[in-house]
Amino acid sequence: MNSQNKHNSKKVILLLAIIVATLSPLPISVLAGEVAPHWQYGGAENPTQWGNLSKDFALCESGRDQSPINIKNAVESTPATISFDYKSSPLVVVNNGHTIQVNYAQGSSVTINGEKYALVQFHFHTPSEHQINGKAAAMELHLVHRNEAGKLAVVGVMLTKGKANSLIEEVWKNIPATGKTNTVSDLLINATSFLPKSKAYYSYEGSLTTPPCSEGVKWNVFVEPMTISEEQIEAFEKNYQVDARPIQPTNSRAVQLHH
Ligand SMILES: [Zn+2]
Repeated sequence: MNSQNKHNSKKVILLLAIIVATLSPLPISVLAGEVAPHWQYGGAENPTQWGNLSKDFALCESGRDQSPINIKNAVESTPATISFDYKSSPLVVVNNGHTIQVNYAQGSSVTINGEKYALVQFHFHTPSEHQINGKAAAMELHLVHRNEAGKLAVVGVMLTKGKANSLIEEVWKNIPATGKTNTVSDLLINATSFLPKSKAYYSYEGSLTTPPCSEGVKWNVFVEPMTISEEQIEAFEKNYQVDARPIQPTNSRAVQLHH
C-alpha cells in the first residue's frame, strides 16, 4: 500500500466513524424513556400496562413510591431551601415521541438543602401530572436535574390557563418533526423565566413518571403556578393530546411544604 492509499483508507475509516456516530441513537436522552420497548399514553401500551411491557418497566407496576401523586395533607416543614443558578443556553428542542423536551447546556443548577443538581432538560405534560388538593392544572413543566452521584431532582411548575408565556412561545416555534432535534444555536434561552415569584414548594420522594418509572427521584413542586395561554395549550395538544401519567397511590409517603 503506498502512502496515498494509506491516506485514503484513513479517510474512509474516519468517514465510517462519522456515519456510525451520526446514526447512533445513544445521545438521545434516556430520561424521557424513548428507548425500546415501546410505551404510550393511550392504546394497548397505556400507563396501566407499562409494568407488563418489559421487565425493565416492572417498577411501574410494583413500585411503592411512584409519581405523580395528588399533593394533599402536606406537612409544614423547614423554610424553603431551594435556590436556582440558571444560566442561558442555546435552544435545543427534541420532539421525542412522548413530549416536547428542551435539552439544556451544562453549567446551570439548583441547590436543594445544600445539595447541588445540574439542570439537564425540561419538558411538558398535558394535563398536569401532579394534582394539588385534587386539582389538576392545564399543563405541567418538569425541570430535570441530576447530581454527581446520579440522583435526580425534578422541579415541577403547574401551568394554568392565562397570559402567554414568552419562553414557551420560543420553544413552540421551534418544534421539529417527531423523532427529530432542532438546534437553534443563535437563540439563547433562560429557564429562570419559568420560576414563579414565590419559592414555596412541596417536596416528596417519588419516581420518573415515564417508563422505567425508576424511584429515588426527589420531587419539588412549586405552590404558585405560572400561566400559559389557551393558544399555547392548543398548540402543544396538536403535538401531544395527552401525555400525563395518572395519579399514583401516595402510600405511606409524607409530603412536605416549605415556605
Ligand atoms: Zn415529566
